[in-house]
Amino acid sequence: MVTAGEDGPRGGSDGRRRRRSTGPHTPVAGHGHSLPIGRVAGIPIRLHWTFWLLVVFVVAVDWSGGRRAVATGLVWIAALFASVVAHEIAHCLVARRRGARVLGIVLVPLGGLSRLESMPTAPDDELAVAIAGPLTSVGLGAALLAIGLVVGQHVWPPTLFAGSWWARLGWLNLLLGAFNLLPALPMDGGRVLRAALARHRSHLEATLLAGRIARYLGVAMVIVGFVYDVWLVLIGVFVLVGARAEEEAARHPPDHGDDPAHRGIDAIG
Ligand SMILES: [Zn+2]
Repeated sequence: MVTAGEDGPRGGSDGRRRRRSTGPHTPVAGHGHSLPIGRVAGIPIRLHWTFWLLVVFVVAVDWSGGRRAVATGLVWIAALFASVVAHEIAHCLVARRRGARVLGIVLVPLGGLSRLESMPTAPDDELAVAIAGPLTSVGLGAALLAIGLVVGQHVWPPTLFAGSWWARLGWLNLLLGAFNLLPALPMDGGRVLRAALARHRSHLEATLLAGRIARYLGVAMVIVGFVYDVWLVLIGVFVLVGARAEEEAARHPPDHGDDPAHRGIDAIG
């Protein structure tokens, strides 16, 4: 499953305290040590060190199945995060077009994190940036399933871990898009909701209302996650913490001259 959004004025403690820096060895501010793995459209992409825990986890889980099972598990992770990168790049490109400075994308075990600076807070801009990721994922998923059909693969019923890769990746991207549209700030859907609310309210009022809805959804994710999937628990906790950070950032907007490192996450599990 998947989560979350982008770039709102989230601030978060370290984001606000740390200064942006630009050396090649500088970790992306606020996200600890990370390894640069490339650039897409000039946007640097990094692997956070905790990402390797996911790789170790996948290898450990598939170990008993032999080399082939391990390889399949790793290919699946690579495909998953390639999908996440496509989703994040869409957020970043739209953000850039809307005047934001894009610092980069960091991949963590729960998903991707787009780091933006000086994101315009106008509702239309937030909406455009937030919706770009899910729309890209849904479009990509539909295209992959369509190609699968054309080349004669079964794409129904929905599958993630078996069947043709066209079907797996297609459904994976559809899930990525749909899950991120849950109206749980700071996930994409929560940002879309806040942008809609902010048309007739102040940014603070819209954030507080969206934050309350996010809290209900976060608690629901934790409860459902305990029954079905531990990843959902983690994402629920992420939503609860992130929604609170959004509220704090809305209550105490960063000063000019400070470096408001807006960021967001698209989580997966
Ligand atoms: Zn997103």
